[in-house]
Amino acid sequence: MNRFVIPIATAMLVLSLFCLTACTATTPAETFDTTAGVQAAQWGENVTITLGEDSFRYESDGLPNHDLPEKFLIPKNVRSQPFSDDSLEDFNVVLTEEYLTKSPIDVTLTLHPSYASKTQETSLGQIGFILSGARLFNDYENMDRSIVALDDNIAFDFDDSEHDHAAFVDDCNGHPLQDGSSYHYHGIPTCIVAVIDVAGEHSHMLGVLRDGFPVYGNQGANGVVVTNADLDDCSGHFEATPEFPNGIYHYHLTDDEAPYSIDCYKGEVTASTGG
Ligand SMILES: [Zn+2]
Ligand SMILES: [Zn+2]
Repeated sequence: MNRFVIPIATAMLVLSLFCLTACTATTPAETFDTTAGVQAAQWGENVTITLGEDSFRYESDGLPNHDLPEKFLIPKNVRSQPFSDDSLEDFNVVLTEEYLTKSPIDVTLTLHPSYASKTQETSLGQIGFILSGARLFNDYENMDRSIVALDDNIAFDFDDSEHDHAAFVDDCNGHPLQDGSSYHYHGIPTCIVAVIDVAGEHSHMLGVLRDGFPVYGNQGANGVVVTNADLDDCSGHFEATPEFPNGIYHYHLTDDEAPYSIDCYKGEVTASTGG
């Protein structure tokens, strides 16, 4: 152990304590380097990652590379929220194979995310890009942020066979838009974390948000489940992760209660990442 580490750490602690009280408004943005994590992440074969100096490009056709249910419930009237009060006649039952369409993603994301001076609400639409080739959305299905998709889920069984079943949001916490495009997650993509996360370890990187900070499932240090109470207002915190052993600011998707997804950005969002 380098003998200078402790004095430097002490000095940084004193500085940050000073900043907590005295320079909240004027703290210069702290910038991170996510190159190692973007290289280490387990991107699907359907995702093309091109690393540059200061940014990387993420390209996919928008369709996830994991299994999907045979059918989805598509609301006939997108304004009839909450959908969970509706009956089967209020939905079209569609065959996934016929209904889901490609919706290409081609975005350039920073490799040097930095804290914004003020957090910014995530909008409806794509807020992040996941290993599977599909998008992450925030929690909401409506502009006034009152309907949480995962709390407004509904499913119908058509007979006793387990397969003849359709839900608004699938078991991986994803679904398409009403027109069959832009399959997206509103919470932990359970079918992905089941493959990449390891018991007893911090979750592995699921993807990157538009501000360049990485996003994870709900396992914190030593695999202990992370809930919203452990996180800041944007569902993030700073700690070591498998891809960033020296620590990084990152988001966690959670499953205890809303927000399940990410409702504000902690970092600066650049224009090249879609609206
Ligand atoms: Zn949705
Ligand atoms: Zn964490």
